[in-house]
Amino acid sequence: MNSQLELLIKVQAIDTRIQQSEAVQAKYNQEIAELDQALQKEETAYTAEKEALQTMEKEHRRLERALEEALSRRDKAQDKLFSVKTNKEYTAALHEIEGIKESIKKQEDGILEVMEQSDTLKKTLKKTEEILKKIRGEYGRKKKQLDDELTCYLEEVEEQKVLRTSLADAVNPQALLDYTKLREAKNGLAVVAAQYERCMGCNMKIPPQTYNLVITSTEIIHCPSCRRMLYIEPEPENVTQSPAGN
Ligand SMILES: [Zn+2]
Repeated sequence: MNSQLELLIKVQAIDTRIQQSEAVQAKYNQEIAELDQALQKEETAYTAEKEALQTMEKEHRRLERALEEALSRRDKAQDKLFSVKTNKEYTAALHEIEGIKESIKKQEDGILEVMEQSDTLKKTLKKTEEILKKIRGEYGRKKKQLDDELTCYLEEVEEQKVLRTSLADAVNPQALLDYTKLREAKNGLAVVAAQYERCMGCNMKIPPQTYNLVITSTEIIHCPSCRRMLYIEPEPENVTQSPAGN
């Protein structure tokens, strides 16, 4: 095979790998973004639940204070009952006590309700906390795994890039320019195999005389249909035949 072509096949394999590495990085970024999103969602829920609980606890304290205040007002009103002088004053004092009692009942009911809601919120918060802990753990593990994999992969790609430079340096400039233009125009495939007298790039039949040139010529031969550079791929060996010695 033309030595330039051999070099270009290697260069193309590396170029394909470099191109794939961009897709791998994009996939990695997407996976991390998805993890981030899941984590953020749970963190937002946790913050909202925590705030709701704080509000509830604040309301609880407010109701407790109101209750205390109502109880003290009731005691004072009850004391007043003993010092009233007229029936009218007595009725008024009783009326006041009734009002205060209603208020006390309201505070007490409110406190019970708030305590129930707080309990529910605490349970929800605990669950969210557990989920959050799990997601954080998974996030850390997964991110580390992805980081390690990507780092390893990118190191390999960097090595390939160095190799590519030395290979490309050995290709004659015109052939390299042709290759570059073809790769851009032909979806990343500039050098393709000719198999069974067909171009493996465009799948078109190669005329016999051209095909013979691909086999024999020391020049680079292009596919008449797609202009890609052609090389002969050794045809697969007959695999049904038993290996010698068996
Ligand atoms: Zn072709």
